[in-house]
Amino acid sequence: MIIGSGCAGNTAAIYAARANLKPLVVIGHEPGGQLSITSLVENFPGFPKGIDGPELVENMKTQAEAFGAEYVYGSVEEADLSKRPFRLNIDGVWHETRTLIIASGASARWLGLPNEQKLIGHGVSSCATCDGAFYKNQKVMVVGGGDSAMEEAIFLTRFASQVTLVHRREHFRASKIMLDRARHNPKIRFLNNTVVEDVFDVASKCVKSVRLKNVETGQTWDEDVDGFFVAIGHIPNTKPFKGQIDLDQEGYIVSHGGARTNIPGVFHAGDVQDRTYRQAITAAGAGCMAAIEAERLLESEGH
Ligand SMILES: Cc1cc2nc3c(=O)[nH]c(=O)nc-3n(C[C@H](O)[C@H](O)[C@H](O)COP(=O)(O)OP(=O)(O)OC[C@H]3O[C@@H](n4cnc5c(N)ncnc54)[C@H](O)[C@@H]3O)c2cc1C
Repeated sequence: MIIGSGCAGNTAAIYAARANLKPLVVIGHEPGGQLSITSLVENFPGFPKGIDGPELVENMKTQAEAFGAEYVYGSVEEADLSKRPFRLNIDGVWHETRTLIIASGASARWLGLPNEQKLIGHGVSSCATCDGAFYKNQKVMVVGGGDSAMEEAIFLTRFASQVTLVHRREHFRASKIMLDRARHNPKIRFLNNTVVEDVFDVASKCVKSVRLKNVETGQTWDEDVDGFFVAIGHIPNTKPFKGQIDLDQEGYIVSHGGARTNIPGVFHAGDVQDRTYRQAITAAGAGCMAAIEAERLLESEGH
């Protein structure tokens, strides 16, 4: 069984189905994964003119189905990985599997502002690599204080006329080298001790401004921006496996080399383990690795 229908899960399904392993893919709450909520993907090899994210993942699924992979709607709610066959509760129904590939991704962490969710895809984003190019010569804001916030802000200066980095504290969690790089970039302006209270304008279906508050003085004010990037981390979708499989402090699966987890027969693929690259191509590559590992294990067991 493969958990997740993003790039990692679909690629694992292609390889597993071609190896005659009869994979069953659990689609989850987001059919097609994160690429299903984006538009043009310009960095997936093989598509010189780019390809729409939903089309790319749908193609992967069609390819896997052509080799015999099956897909089931629903989400894994509970898992028993204490012995083989492993048991998974999918929307109340228990299923068994001899090997398991977890490709359940990681969801972006949001600020929880009143209008934030309404403007995702309309100026509110969690991925500068993905959406930065839409903001040529425009003003953008990045929220966060870690390395990924610095990275996003620096990357955005390639396009935007000004990048304002908002951080709720005086000091940053980011490494010195990343912070220095951001500080020396003339396009980046720092707003410390500041929180965002809301983002506007839902009525116009695009980001026009944000309301800020200085946490020391209590002063609030509005600032015009065209793009609003939230860079405060991701939440790996590993809740059903907590306590069963080795996870790091933030909940990402800990790799035991290749695609292996600490449990023989359970493999990881994609963003659920990878906190560094988080790209469609790396997730697809990881799906391939996991399927090959599953195949080798089953073969060594005489499957
Ligand atoms: C807006 C946006 C634009 C992007 N643009 C690009 C781009 O241009 N180029 C690029 O390379 N990358 C891009 N990315 C990043 C890329 O989408 C991810 O790196 C990639 O999708 C990760 O693939 P994945 O299969 O590991 O996880 P995901 O795509 O997150 O898929 C996870 C899957 O697991 C399922 N799932 C989760 N929990 C459960 C559960 N309990 N039970 C069953 N299923 C579950 C979900 O339904 C989903 O199908 C973008 C991301 C975003 C958010």
